Amino acid sequence: MDVQSSNMKKPLRVMKFGGTSLGDPTCIRKVVEIVCDAARDSRLIVVVSAMSGVTNRLIEAAKHSEAGNRDAVRAIFENLRERHNAVVSTLIHSIPRRNRINRELKEIQEEGERLCQGTTCLRELTSRANDSISSLGERLSAPLVAAALAECGVDAEAISAMELVVTDSSHGCADPLMEHTRERCASRLLPLLRRGVVPVITGFIGATLAGVLTTLGRGGSDYSATILGEALEADEVVIWTDVNGLMTADPRSVPDATTIAEISHREAAELAHFGAKVLHPKSLRPVTRCAIPLSIRNTFAPERPGTRVTPTGPSKDGVKGLTAMSDVALVTVSGLGMIGAPEVLSHTFATTAAVRAGLLLISQSSSQNDICLVIPSSAAERLVQALRGEFAHDPAHEKAMHITFDPNVAMITVVGKHMRGSDAVGRTFAALDRKNINIVAIAQGSSESNISFVVPKMDAKAALNAVHQEFDLGAPHSRTIPVGSVAVSPAAWQYEPAQRTANAD
Ligand code: ADP
Ligand code: ASP
Ligand code: MG
Repeated sequence: MDVQSSNMKKPLRVMKFGGTSLGDPTCIRKVVEIVCDAARDSRLIVVVSAMSGVTNRLIEAAKHSEAGNRDAVRAIFENLRERHNAVVSTLIHSIPRRNRINRELKEIQEEGERLCQGTTCLRELTSRANDSISSLGERLSAPLVAAALAECGVDAEAISAMELVVTDSSHGCADPLMEHTRERCASRLLPLLRRGVVPVITGFIGATLAGVLTTLGRGGSDYSATILGEALEADEVVIWTDVNGLMTADPRSVPDATTIAEISHREAAELAHFGAKVLHPKSLRPVTRCAIPLSIRNTFAPERPGTRVTPTGPSKDGVKGLTAMSDVALVTVSGLGMIGAPEVLSHTFATTAAVRAGLLLISQSSSQNDICLVIPSSAAERLVQALRGEFAHDPAHEKAMHITFDPNVAMITVVGKHMRGSDAVGRTFAALDRKNINIVAIAQGSSESNISFVVPKMDAKAALNAVHQEFDLGAPHSRTIPVGSVAVSPAAWQYEPAQRTANAD
């Protein structure tokens, strides 16, 4: 068998490294070790985020440009140059390679500065320009990681996902057009994989059919990885990050949180949708469609097994994890006249859809006096204005007399399998009651896999810890260990804070 055919027999793995794995030259060295090791027995597609903190800085630069703060923009680009140059000087030793990468990085940085200058001239930040500026971090990190891999003898090629991921034109939250994406991936990537080359692809980015750059939303590199996994029918997608896997809760809020050994696509999707930052909210969609297993592993502890996300997960029912979202607002439409007026409901939902305020929770009192909606805080004012406008022009407006919003709330979600009819609801609320935590609104998903409730923002952490303790999620014996798997020592479940930089993005 020739080399190319034997390459194509190896399993195909998409490996995504987040910003937390690309914080500095030491972190990038770890990434290179993981890729070198995996490249021995797999065909690999590497997807990279921007170095940690870079996307936040770029978004700040975009805002400063719009406000005309040229000095602030200059300072941000200077800092980005220093950070990327430090990686080049530490990891890239070959002079021709170093010259080439320096040239490439310079061109991308200059393009970014020109985009910011254009924004300053117009004093307008369009969603298109915002996407172009915020995507620069991935465009810088992909050639950098490819060059670092080449230094270690891996045949790697940096590729912009603009060539591969075809999206709709929803700037800032684009979705893939899979037919086109599949075709592009096959024609561009399969020949490289056949030759044993490792493509290093920019996460977060796509382009419309007309070639206009789009982004997939904050944290979108996870989504990029699973989109590419689906497009290429990969054998596995691995999300490399700074914790030991998908955990029973965010370890920053629940110190007791432990790694989940295995979980179903469905449950992981619920955790991601309701705020587990380790996975982009939409990232499970592509792998669920194709039943592709996904793993979440720690770049700084690659010997750990991490979490396996499989189509059905282990057979165990019950609560698996908790999430909290504090960047939300509770919008209430209320009034005695709402009783028996279904048009108030339909107008409320139509308006919510029209202003694209992503609904996270809906709850209506049985007296029908009010309806509560939980939405991201960024959409709260927009929705309240739109609802007030909608009802002011509607003959039914007197029926919905008060439209208010409360930004001081958090939404907590309990995720598990087959929870309807179990004691999960009773135990959750009993645990909150014992801590005197007031519940503002409640919703149970008909899917039986989630229960969400709203609490005052200041009580969110106490609520999370109370429910986590109630379901014994921190204790090793309650872990969902797959049937037939070997016993795992309690130490393997502990959370070890990795070399985490202050601002992950
Ligand atoms: P990356 O840069 O690798 O994309 P992120 O910062 O986006 O990393 O996501 C990893 C972080 O997600 C972790 O450091 C952790 O604090 C946070 N997180 C929130 N919820 C969870 C959870 N349920 N399991 C694991 N990590 C979580
Ligand atoms: N760099 C992008 C962000 O910070 C995408 C990602 O990290 O996944 O949102
Ligand atoms: Mg992330």
